[in-house]
Amino acid sequence: MPVVTLAHDRDFAGWRNAARALALRGVPPAEVEWRIGGPGGSEAPPPGDNVFHVPRAFVDLARAAICHDDPERFSLLYELLLRIRADPHALDQADAPLVCRVRALADQASGNKASGEALSGAMAGNLRARPGSNALAAWEAVRAEAMGCTRCHLYKCGTQTVFGEGPVDSRIMFVGEQPGDQEDLAGRPFVGPAGRLFDKALGDAGVDRRRTYVTNAVKHFKFERRGKRRIHQKPEAPEIEACRWWLEQERTILRPGLTVALGATAARSLFGRIVTISRMRGEPHPIPDGGEGWVTVHPSFLLRVRDDKEREYARFVEDLHRIGERAKVLA
Ligand code: SF4
Repeated sequence: MPVVTLAHDRDFAGWRNAARALALRGVPPAEVEWRIGGPGGSEAPPPGDNVFHVPRAFVDLARAAICHDDPERFSLLYELLLRIRADPHALDQADAPLVCRVRALADQASGNKASGEALSGAMAGNLRARPGSNALAAWEAVRAEAMGCTRCHLYKCGTQTVFGEGPVDSRIMFVGEQPGDQEDLAGRPFVGPAGRLFDKALGDAGVDRRRTYVTNAVKHFKFERRGKRRIHQKPEAPEIEACRWWLEQERTILRPGLTVALGATAARSLFGRIVTISRMRGEPHPIPDGGEGWVTVHPSFLLRVRDDKEREYARFVEDLHRIGERAKVLA
């Protein structure tokens, strides 16, 4: 893993030189460790064609954002630099979470507290941000946007978009399938019967649910109405693919070390392909944009299963325990 040691915490020149060298080598952001306190710019550009141009606006933005205290600013700026190399207009996508987050860093570092003041007290009580981090502001902006989502026809179903919830500095993100009847009405994920079983299993596994983020692959309740009842319908590939956008936004903001797919729909969304749970269960799998992906069953499976109910529950708890221990190792 390349380690870049910057001369001081506002070392823009050191960051720029190192980022340029790393970008020319195509080093992914997740593989770079940024440190402060040493000679600046330890990643020297390679000889030869070592120049590329970025918009002046990005240079100004980076110069301002680097003055923020967020420990992730160097990595976020490097990630944005790579995006701009791939797409010179990437900075124009003002609602893209990464752009939004870097702009908020720059604004806050420049004394513009507008984005911070936008946080609602209720949300702040539920979601704790790292000191000096603007991840919460970015998360809230994305969530607000998701509330009006029409990316697929499911926005016509159910009561509302049910976005993820939990601390934005969670090391573990759990991804379920879609909200159920109770979640749809409450506007919160994992509050129905499967969610309660999930809470119990997490407790039995020694994992503190309050320190995890929970969300769904599909954020609208898909159902078929039978009389007064709303019967769950499994989401299909186009719906999973459309809603994958929001899961990617959540992962970009939280950057969890471990993302756990609960069931086949979540696994399909996380890995972008059909996954066989039994083959991938119980061990980490790399995710292209960083972090580890884990796979286990959805707690609703444990409610439905008839044979060996206790054994299946114990296996689920064992998976969660292993995931919790792994999160401690990665901390
Ligand atoms: S299911 Fe997802 S993509 Fe489809 S409308 Fe709802 S939030 Fe948007």
